[in-house]
Amino acid sequence: MFKAVMIEKSADGVQSVSVRDVADNQLPKGDVTVRVEWSTLNYKDALAITGRGPIVRSFPMIPGIDFAGIVESSQREDIRPGARVILNGWGVGEKHWGGLAEKATVSGDWLVPLPDRLTSRQAMEIGTAGYTAMLCIQALQREGVTPDKGPILITGATGGVGSVAIMLLSRLGYHVVAVTGRPEEEAYLTALGAKEILPRQAFATPGKALEKTRWAGAVDVAGGTVLANVCASMAYGGVVTACGLAADMSFPSTVAPFILRGVTLVGVDSVMCPRDRRLAAWSRLAELIDPVKLAEMTSEIALADAIEASAALLDGKIRGRVVVRMS
Ligand code: NDP
Repeated sequence: MFKAVMIEKSADGVQSVSVRDVADNQLPKGDVTVRVEWSTLNYKDALAITGRGPIVRSFPMIPGIDFAGIVESSQREDIRPGARVILNGWGVGEKHWGGLAEKATVSGDWLVPLPDRLTSRQAMEIGTAGYTAMLCIQALQREGVTPDKGPILITGATGGVGSVAIMLLSRLGYHVVAVTGRPEEEAYLTALGAKEILPRQAFATPGKALEKTRWAGAVDVAGGTVLANVCASMAYGGVVTACGLAADMSFPSTVAPFILRGVTLVGVDSVMCPRDRRLAAWSRLAELIDPVKLAEMTSEIALADAIEASAALLDGKIRGRVVVRMS
């Protein structure tokens, strides 16, 4: 038996969540079984657990879109028992039992080796949020956004993606401008490396098709009107990476920034991201992460606390990253 967060749905469509014992023989098909050491609470996990978003595709479901742990058994030559591995995405925690459990059975194709410089806990302090932040940064770099081009705007700055993006971009020498709805977190954002802090309200209401040009690059986790306003204020040739919908799924913009200022909008997806990009992102994360800052931006909870923490995360009461400790 192993412990897991389990989401169930009754015949009349009511969702319930509990932490309970699950028998090993109930684990889904897969060629590698991992003893999960650490998982995390991501925005998507919180949507799944609270039922506030249509994340779970089949019930019963163990949520948890990421985990780090030790291979317990493997039918593959290239992944041996005892190896330390990381998993992000691939529909785990959505349509395949996920990481908020002491054990997970998955396809070995979905696993990446834990980089030598990181512990399992650090990998999950980074988690899918931090790995996505790295994918955004690598997209900016691929598009030629270098520190000398101008400031980089980061929305949802106190959240998981935002916090890691600030830390990494400032480490790389970029001038980082943080957008937050929590002005009381100014000291936190400054300590991570933000040089300027702007209120979220400045981006929250519909603006003009084109605003004053300001940003060479942007990492947007909000979507909606926030993303539209970010695009409208990009410098000529600026690059926006869009990875989230913390504000809204919509995109109420015009083509003006794209056809008059040559702005590029790059979509970033971590779930189905090809393996070579994943490996590159994790390798760079291992090089760039400041372990002290990373630990400071992280809070730790037990598996039993994941349900309560999910509502708090969606209500904007949690800052930075949340790691979930398995027993
Ligand atoms: P968090 O909950 O940790 O952070 C989200 C942050 O967004 C909040 O802390 C808040 O920051 C800000 N925010 C909340 N509500 C609004 C709003 N109405 N308007 C503008 N900003 C708002 O989540 P994550 O950082 O883990 O994820 C952020 C987004 O990125 C989510 O939508 C998530 O689904 C998405 N995501 C996408 C991935 C992908 O593969 N594309 C992978 C990982 C995440 P503040 O208080 O500082 O303003």
